[in-house]
Amino acid sequence: MKITRRDFLKYCTASAAALGLSASSLRRLEAALASEGAPTIIWLHGSGCQGDSVSFLNLFANLDPVGDVTAGAVVLDYVNLAYHTVLMASAGQTAVTMAMQARRMGSYVLVCEGGVPTAFDGRACSILTSNGEEKTYQQMVLELGSDAAAVLCVGTCASYGGIPRSVYPASMPAPAEPVGPTGVLSVKEALAAGGVSVPLLVNIPGCPSHPAWVAWAVVQLILGNTIELDSYDRPTAIYGNKDIDSVTLNIHEHCPRNVNLGPPNERATTFGQDHKCLEDLGCRGPMTYSDCPARKWNNGETGPANWCIDANAPCIGCVEPDFPGGGFYS
Ligand code: SF4
Ligand code: SF4
Repeated sequence: MKITRRDFLKYCTASAAALGLSASSLRRLEAALASEGAPTIIWLHGSGCQGDSVSFLNLFANLDPVGDVTAGAVVLDYVNLAYHTVLMASAGQTAVTMAMQARRMGSYVLVCEGGVPTAFDGRACSILTSNGEEKTYQQMVLELGSDAAAVLCVGTCASYGGIPRSVYPASMPAPAEPVGPTGVLSVKEALAAGGVSVPLLVNIPGCPSHPAWVAWAVVQLILGNTIELDSYDRPTAIYGNKDIDSVTLNIHEHCPRNVNLGPPNERATTFGQDHKCLEDLGCRGPMTYSDCPARKWNNGETGPANWCIDANAPCIGCVEPDFPGGGFYS
């Protein structure tokens, strides 16, 4: 799949309201994308499923093709994506050299997808070979994080450890803070453990992260806008701030199945009952904060088509730091 700069701008224009972009912001974005100094992105993959990359590419799936411009090209050309395991055309030392050149030029955004395994000196996750030397994700996060203008953690694994962090052998006593058999840390924890401080770290959790959330964050960074974060390093524009406001972006409060909205809303007693509240089946909407009910997911003919609860699946709290917790429906 290829993406063009034009596609990215086209997406941003079509989604201006959802991305919070005014007409003047769009003009600034167009100018920034066209300039030589547009920020470079180095996108690394660690302990995760690459679902965030797939989700991000879904942004462009419904755009009309522009000539032979493809999804990869929008990101590669417009957003200056210097390194991305899935999207880049080059491979091996050539690809690694491009990432190192971007590092030397400075002012790049490091996008991290996946948690950081730290057991076995990080060798549970070796991601590239540079000049004959094998490098782990842990090493590369520290090396590239140390010079990055900003670090963007996409997905819950990079943000908090997610599923790779939650599993540990049943024969072992559960640690107070689960790290899994490969010692997975969040990117923020790994940077701190390695003594690396970064000017800005933004978490965009979700399993996967919504592509519009990632696009929103990339746009804010390109425009140089200040991103207000909650105590879990999430943008309050997307996830609210549950420490000071338990209503505005709480999923339960905005769910059309909320029984507090009155009849005919009822509680489901088993899965598969349309339009009924899923709280008794383990729905975590009451303790989860994001704009999913309004934004929705997937591409319909006219835009995002559906979301978990409309599909009769309880919210599993995939954006929260304790995801997946003790089980999906608990
Ligand atoms: S389905 Fe979940 S989010 Fe919706 S009202 Fe019931 S508990 Fe709340
Ligand atoms: S509704 Fe819940 S489980 Fe579904 S994407 Fe949103 S936060 Fe994640």
